[in-house]
Amino acid sequence: RGDSRDIDAEVASICPFCGVGCQVSLKVKGDKVVRVDGINGPANEGRLCVKGRFGFDYIHHPHRLTRPLIRRDDAPPKGLNVDPGNLLTHFCEATWDEALDAAAGGLARLRDDTGRRVAGFGSAKCSNEEAYLFQKLIRQGFGHNNVDHCTRLCHASSVAALMENVGSGAVTATFNQIEHADVAIVIGANPVENHPVAATYFKQFAKRGGKLIVMDPRGVGLRRFATHMLQFKPGADVSMLNAIMHVIVEEELYDRQYIAAYTENWEAEKAHLKAFSPEAMEPHCGIPAETLRQVAREFAGARAAMIFWGMGVSQHIHGTDNSRCLISLALMCGQVGRPGTGLHPLRGQNNVQGASDAGLIPMFLPDYQPVTDDGVRAAFSEIWASGDFSAEKGLTVTEILDAVHAGEVRGMYILGENPAMSDPDVEHARDALARLEHLVVQDIFLTETANYADVILPAAAFYEKDGTVTNTNRQVQMGRAAVTPPGDARPDWEITMALARRLGLDWAYTDVSEVFAEMKRGMKSLDNITWDRLEDEGAVTYPSLSPEDPGQAVVFGDGFPRAGGRARFTPADIVAPAEAPDAEFPMVLTTGRQLEHWHTGSMTRRATVLDAVEPEANCSLHPSTLRKLGVDPGGLVRLTTRRGSVTVMARADRAVSPDMVFLPFAYVEAAANILTNPALDPYGKIPEFKYAAVRVEKAETL
Ligand code: SF4
Repeated sequence: RGDSRDIDAEVASICPFCGVGCQVSLKVKGDKVVRVDGINGPANEGRLCVKGRFGFDYIHHPHRLTRPLIRRDDAPPKGLNVDPGNLLTHFCEATWDEALDAAAGGLARLRDDTGRRVAGFGSAKCSNEEAYLFQKLIRQGFGHNNVDHCTRLCHASSVAALMENVGSGAVTATFNQIEHADVAIVIGANPVENHPVAATYFKQFAKRGGKLIVMDPRGVGLRRFATHMLQFKPGADVSMLNAIMHVIVEEELYDRQYIAAYTENWEAEKAHLKAFSPEAMEPHCGIPAETLRQVAREFAGARAAMIFWGMGVSQHIHGTDNSRCLISLALMCGQVGRPGTGLHPLRGQNNVQGASDAGLIPMFLPDYQPVTDDGVRAAFSEIWASGDFSAEKGLTVTEILDAVHAGEVRGMYILGENPAMSDPDVEHARDALARLEHLVVQDIFLTETANYADVILPAAAFYEKDGTVTNTNRQVQMGRAAVTPPGDARPDWEITMALARRLGLDWAYTDVSEVFAEMKRGMKSLDNITWDRLEDEGAVTYPSLSPEDPGQAVVFGDGFPRAGGRARFTPADIVAPAEAPDAEFPMVLTTGRQLEHWHTGSMTRRATVLDAVEPEANCSLHPSTLRKLGVDPGGLVRLTTRRGSVTVMARADRAVSPDMVFLPFAYVEAAANILTNPALDPYGKIPEFKYAAVRVEKAETL
């Protein structure tokens, strides 16, 4: 771990990976980060997981983009065909002026040619200020709302249900509130791998006697700490949750006073649940009726209970319905608004909450203010000192790529996103990127998406710039530059501003803090949170009620931000997954992350320790399934769905049921999204990453 005498400087910042938002101390020698330790942030209290502690040296990797690049006239046809160690076969190095002129010139030509629209994907890995500037650029510079980011692929359905029924898309309580609970449900989430520091709080809760109810089609790591592990059939969330709520109604275990004081539409919910008895739902969800009854009684009998969920809930065509059920369950038991109670969708990327808050979504301006509202648009036009922009909701991530295929979108500006790996049915996404007339990609590495770029703009990594980020707990935190970006790379906000100026916008920020000050003018959520406070205190939770208030860990104790102050019950029916297993594709494919790798792997696969621990694409199958296939653990299998095939090493894992296969999506050599189904939830427009019919066969070679 080194010796403190070997260190030139220590800089406090935030881990750039998951939504837990652990505070870190970066130990710097020369101009290199050489060690990372946890410090006492509100979410982590000194703790870090393997990614935060050991996954930092990607920032010094030789593959970093250090010069602006312009596609060569004689480059081969666009495709996934660029060697990151030998870029000059496809691109020429350029000065910033040349690259920005080429980037802005191409986008402006498409903007000014009526009907050829430009769209933007921003990033949840950048700061709040950078997310804000990116959405402002698309709206102010192009006049429409075709701007989105990866929230569409993770919790868009959760946010849709929360906005509809609670009136706010953020968590109602921090995950640390579990210390005041006596019952907690964790459903469709694998925090031991995906939110590891949050998982330590869940384990401590169980060890001190809290009742931890884990629900997931996979036997996820928290099962060892669970009082109940409900390993339900994939896609059967609504039948299981409605059966639990049926028992609470049947046995009159609900909280009459709370329902009367704080909710609406209860009678409709109650009537709807009559059809979902545990006995009727047992064959559907695979959980014994008696277990469903016990869980219902334990949750309803809790003094204080919380519900946590992840993408196992949200990434379905019925993801919004799944979240509606969880909201209804909490409301009927009065488990919102007090210490140790609440609804908490565990957010994925380190700034997906903040990027959403900052308006990086096609239907909302900052603070979830609708673009369709004339008054809201007028307020932002005034802040931006510019004219009005479209009142029409923009296209979402997957809709934008469909619009490229339809010829309606011809140019894109992509900052820090990697749709050539992250989108469902990814060959469709790659084909869309290849069709674009002009693609500008801004990133720290040559991502799979950057393979298709016309202009590549080299950006600073998170530990090379200042800016705020907002974690899953609504904690706005200060990230600080510890080292300088390599070569000509620059902070994203500076690049976006330079591009905006070439598009004719009069932006003149001299420091990123000025962007934060502008955001505060349009975002009530930032009231009482100032740049100076964040510099001093490191983190402030929103809402903060006064300049001294560190922020409210629990909200909605005295009503909800909806008309009349009441939350709503929205009944949910069973909707089958978009494709069912059949004779040709008899098993279920589910995808997700694993502990050592982050999303599409562009950073963690270039982190020495993480790559050494998990160097190879892999999938997980039950030992009995492997035996049937005649494959030894470590052997190869071919996975085939209606979209394509990948060949990958198989691991034996009893946590996966015999009719299921789990495939992480970080590996380009076995890209999980070649297989996934692009069918969308109608409300959140989120794809069904968690369920596709698949055939698994033994394979001899890669
Ligand atoms: Fe980073 Fe998340 Fe791990 Fe904390 S739990 S160190 S934020 S990856």
